[in-house]
Amino acid sequence: MFENLSERLERSFKILKGEGKITEINVAETLKDVRRALLDADVNYKVAKTFTDKVKQKALGMNVLTAVKPGQMMVKLVHDELAELMGGESVGLKLEGRPAIILMSGLQGSGKTTFSGKLANMLKKKQHKNPLLVACDVYRPAAIEQLKVVGGQIEIPVYSEPESKNVIGIAQNAIKEAKAKGNDVVIIDTAGRLAVDEEMMNEIEALKNAVNPDETLFVVDSMTGQDAVNTAKEFNDRLDFDGVVLTKLDGDTRGGAAISIRTVVTKPIKFVGTGEKMEAIDVFHPSRMADRILG
Ligand code: GDP
Repeated sequence: MFENLSERLERSFKILKGEGKITEINVAETLKDVRRALLDADVNYKVAKTFTDKVKQKALGMNVLTAVKPGQMMVKLVHDELAELMGGESVGLKLEGRPAIILMSGLQGSGKTTFSGKLANMLKKKQHKNPLLVACDVYRPAAIEQLKVVGGQIEIPVYSEPESKNVIGIAQNAIKEAKAKGNDVVIIDTAGRLAVDEEMMNEIEALKNAVNPDETLFVVDSMTGQDAVNTAKEFNDRLDFDGVVLTKLDGDTRGGAAISIRTVVTKPIKFVGTGEKMEAIDVFHPSRMADRILG
């Protein structure tokens, strides 16, 4: 994960770390390198520029040039600013409804079904919840089957109505069933398309308005880089979602989406997916992610 970026940043800092004294030119050169590394990692141009400008300002404000260990001070500055860029603090789920409702959104193939299972499994094992998975991807028959397979693996029930295409009706019936059977969390998996289209947006928007979820999560493939950020913006404009789930971080060697998404949509990344298995889920911690990026 982030191998290229970590390597590049390490190289940029090498000079600074080695020098007892550094000059304004050293700092400027290093920050230029950092900006280049961020752009190569597919970080949004504006985000990269604002980031390095901010680090530079802080460095000058903190008198880095006359510090005892200027290189280390710069690395810490970049670390803290990276963490800030990714949201600063970790933000959890707010599950207050009885049952609490979580709505998944995102493009086809982004990892919604897999993540629905991972989250259900995590809530069951770590928070002793009793989740119900709901199959609202009614366009691909295989999608219902896939959710059932996932549910079977983690021993979590799946509500579906294979004959119905009325997603609002299915979701409302599932919520009734959850109340009757004592499921305290309802996780609704929805249909995605290959690209953002009006019909999909209308459907998920109507579904959101009908079930009034505690959490609407936007699931996105981190490997799609800046496209991930653009898609996030389109979904957020329509859905005003509560948080982002970045999947396939295990395959993302560039890391651009993780770094830019928060600034562009001003919504927190709440979870990351790091593999195909049900256990491959992590709560997102900006500071830990900054540690990983800086290697
Ligand atoms: P959906 O269409 O949004 O429901 O996407 P799926 O859940 O079906 O996932 C699409 C593909 O991505 C599947 O082959 C998953 O196994 C895979 N996948 C999902 N999440 C991850 C992840 O975090 N890492 C990796 N490597 N693969 C993932």
